[in-house]
Amino acid sequence: MDPETLSYRLPRTVVPDKYEIRLEPDLINFTFDGEEVVHITVAEPVRQISLNALDLEIFEAFLTNSKGATVKPEINLDPENERVHFAIKAPLEAGTWKLQIKFKGLLNDKLHGFYRSTYKDARGAKKIIATTQFEATDARRAFPCWDEPDFKAVFRVTLIVDEGLTAISNAQVWGEKLLSERGKKEIGFKDTIKMSTYLVAFIVGEFEYTDVQIVDGTPVRIVCPPGKLPLAKFAQGIAAHSLSFFNTYYGLKYPGDKLDLIAIPDFAFGAMENLGAVTFRETALLVDEKTASHAELERVADVVAHEIAHMWFGDLATMSWWNGIWLNEAFATFMEMLAVDAWKPHWKRWETFGMSRASAFAVDGLKNTRPIEFPVRHPGEAQAMFDVLTYEKGASVLRMLEQYLGAEQFRRGIILYLSKHKYSNCETTDLWDAIEESCKQPVRQLMDSWIYQEGHPLITVATGASKNEIKLEQRRFLYAADSDKAAEETLFQVPIMVRAKVADDIIYKKLLLTERSTAIEFDAKPDWVVVNEGGHGFYRVSYSPELLQSLKNNLNTLAPIERFNLVNDTWAAVLAGLTPLSEFVQLAKLLREETDKNVWTVLIAAMQYIERALGQPDAGKRVSDQLSEFVRSVASPAQKRLGWEPQAGEDELTHQLRGMLVGILGTLGDDAEVRTKAAELYEKYKNDRTSVSPDLAPALLTILAQTGDERRFNVFLKEFKEASNPQEEDRYLYSLAAFRDPQLLTKTLEKAINGEVRTQSAPYLVRAVMHNTAGRDLSWKFVKDNWATILKLFPNNSITRMCEGVSALVSEELLNDTGDFFIKNEPKQGKKLIDQHLEKQAVAVAFQKREAATLKTL
Ligand SMILES: [Zn+2]
Repeated sequence: MDPETLSYRLPRTVVPDKYEIRLEPDLINFTFDGEEVVHITVAEPVRQISLNALDLEIFEAFLTNSKGATVKPEINLDPENERVHFAIKAPLEAGTWKLQIKFKGLLNDKLHGFYRSTYKDARGAKKIIATTQFEATDARRAFPCWDEPDFKAVFRVTLIVDEGLTAISNAQVWGEKLLSERGKKEIGFKDTIKMSTYLVAFIVGEFEYTDVQIVDGTPVRIVCPPGKLPLAKFAQGIAAHSLSFFNTYYGLKYPGDKLDLIAIPDFAFGAMENLGAVTFRETALLVDEKTASHAELERVADVVAHEIAHMWFGDLATMSWWNGIWLNEAFATFMEMLAVDAWKPHWKRWETFGMSRASAFAVDGLKNTRPIEFPVRHPGEAQAMFDVLTYEKGASVLRMLEQYLGAEQFRRGIILYLSKHKYSNCETTDLWDAIEESCKQPVRQLMDSWIYQEGHPLITVATGASKNEIKLEQRRFLYAADSDKAAEETLFQVPIMVRAKVADDIIYKKLLLTERSTAIEFDAKPDWVVVNEGGHGFYRVSYSPELLQSLKNNLNTLAPIERFNLVNDTWAAVLAGLTPLSEFVQLAKLLREETDKNVWTVLIAAMQYIERALGQPDAGKRVSDQLSEFVRSVASPAQKRLGWEPQAGEDELTHQLRGMLVGILGTLGDDAEVRTKAAELYEKYKNDRTSVSPDLAPALLTILAQTGDERRFNVFLKEFKEASNPQEEDRYLYSLAAFRDPQLLTKTLEKAINGEVRTQSAPYLVRAVMHNTAGRDLSWKFVKDNWATILKLFPNNSITRMCEGVSALVSEELLNDTGDFFIKNEPKQGKKLIDQHLEKQAVAVAFQKREAATLKTL
């Protein structure tokens, strides 16, 4: 380690083997008392032991060894470096020692470390939960520790809590003792496996839980605040499936001794993969199956499968340092798709993953993108890794590799990797080496071009020197017109899958493009050619006009994901100024008969983008007449075909499509008939949540909000506060950002900082108002005016996510203003993300200038 890195890393001369931690949280005064015995190995005589501690009061420490020696060190807190140093006068002998520490800390309200979460019970009484969120480096706020992922150790936790409360930690309970005189009980948990500090968890509060379900010998429960148990069944189904799916896939049994999935009312992330005690925000775990939309159910399934995938990949085999966080997350995202796809094949999870891939493309085409992996010295730098490039691009690239090598070959590599690195730590390259070893292909070289280089290629496809030949050429895809030419020269190792119709045959080709260009020869001139066959490649495709026309003439021969990619790549070319908007409009009109939900998702997203950039309304209108006519001309035939009621035998994705089409017609489409019907259905929905299709309900709320007045605003606000499940709560909350009256939107924004909305949701509420064209100026003013409050109030990780709303502020004036603001108010973390949002905004403004006149010709 170089000296600079060393300043961020603890010395390796003293290593923890086991922690015995005893904690007593005080849920009234929001503090906790702690005591720990750390069994350490001292490799060489030392005069100082340094470990991590933050916001802890440490008032006693001593060392003992088996020979009976006792040493009382001097305690030196070092808050700046988040450490405590124990200074010892005479060098401490090498060997094993016990380090005993007494400390005190705060149950904070910042949703990190050991923190408190608040909710009201059925009778309206305020209740407190004490819970933890340690990743990346907040275990040090709960107990002094070697808070780096490769200091793996065994944890034995004891919690002292009020008699009436439930306490949960990573392992099973081994014993419970009443401390009657104090009205308390002491709960002892069994030893954990050897694991990293960021995976330790303690949760204390009033909870209910499902009956224990035994899955391949492991007890599984869903745990939630009282009254919410009826919402736990769906999660239990996917949890049991995932556990058994991964037991088989990884060829290695689940490493914990039980698995609890716990819903926490205040939670900064989606969920956290604490071994055996996974914590979730409520919307990601609890759901009413009867009234939830497909998207809401899919989210729960995804997150549950994702966290359980981590139990092996992340928890059992762990990255050595935070630069490896991307692989941890990308891999869990990839595995979540596999598990959900196996659970409900008719959800076509790999096809709907197209939208996730698209969101990664949207960032990765910016000049301000970053390589998937980058060097991380200070752990804070790793915060920037929790983004779409880690999760979605990372998972896309893994899927591309898996499809190129073959699913079984890929899996054998994973099994080898886990068997080599279980209970220990490793580097990204160890995974490629394991796959390479098992499948005998140059995986490391291939993956390095995707992991350490930023961006992705655009593959241009044209007829080659002879008419039987097609020529493929790669260059990096960038949105910005003033792109650096040198950047475009980047070469990737691109797994290319091709399907072509040649004479009467369908021909498949697979190749690895490592050079700038290559040619594929067929026996005759192909009728049509699909590049990125199957749709799993992380690259964009641009066909010559002739080849594009042949595909447009044969749209039905494309798989839905291939049509999705065709639309999405065309739209990206429009934003990059490579293709005129009119070309996209023409393609959209060809897709009126489209039945695939994903293709519609990208069409509808493009319509909304056009509105933000070009849709200046005529006086008194919601959007310009031209835009609403265009929306109706494309979406209306499909909506009429589907009707309002789900048909017998229809799949769930079609239910979802119905809701999407109604939503876009009732908003941007300005469709009077749809609006009237939506209002009618809402009257029924109000009294009986099961009276309309669950996939229609979110669209109804959006339409009613967009056309609603103050009276309706107050009704929706009340519904938000009294919602009976987390999904409904979210729907009504975000509908408050969809009203059009500036005064109502101002009220919505105020609620984000006045305590009416949980800080876990408030940043996203502000972002939603920024995406509303009627709230554009006032939401930006709100962010600027309240910046200090926002920084103080909202969870750290959410600030840059809120700022994503900047990309929707499409005007030259706002572009200048946002740029100036972030120069003066550079966020401590996530500057890269802010630069990305600003660049997206600039791309939109450039599109606005280029295509301003096109709207009239839609
Ligand atoms: Zn994860």
